[in-house]
Amino acid sequence: MADEEASPGARPRVDLDIERTAKGLPALWECGGGYTSTGYAQVIAGENGEMLTPVYIPRGGPLANGNHALFVVEEGTVVVTVIQKHGDVSVQVWRIKGIVNDQVTTELITEYRLGEWTSDLEEWQPGIHAAVQAAVDKASCYHCREPHYALPMPEQKVI
Ligand SMILES: [Zn+2]
Repeated sequence: MADEEASPGARPRVDLDIERTAKGLPALWECGGGYTSTGYAQVIAGENGEMLTPVYIPRGGPLANGNHALFVVEEGTVVVTVIQKHGDVSVQVWRIKGIVNDQVTTELITEYRLGEWTSDLEEWQPGIHAAVQAAVDKASCYHCREPHYALPMPEQKVI
């Protein structure tokens, strides 16, 4: 498989299953949170790392370390994933390349593991720091129940 990699900094990933909004738009969840000594988080940001307005925030159900905000995604949308074990974090920053059927194709822009970034985050995208920090915080947020990186959304009215 290694010879299929276009470059070390652009590993493809195709295993993100998307949601469809009521209007049929592709969407991904901000989700995750911390357990006693481990954690996981996925945070969604705009292509410049900016906070986005979610289309849906669940108010009830099993919220702890579950799905907390749903965002419409498109080519260029950034997805930050974090795994935390005993306070040590690994971070991966993905960019959506395309959406086919119900799968998102992403490329790995950069990752943080064993204490180092594989490529310079500052050089690639200064605006991404806040999203990365939010994802790191979320992965240590015990039994997280709320979005960490989302603009406030207008009051949800059923009628
Ligand atoms: Zn939280």
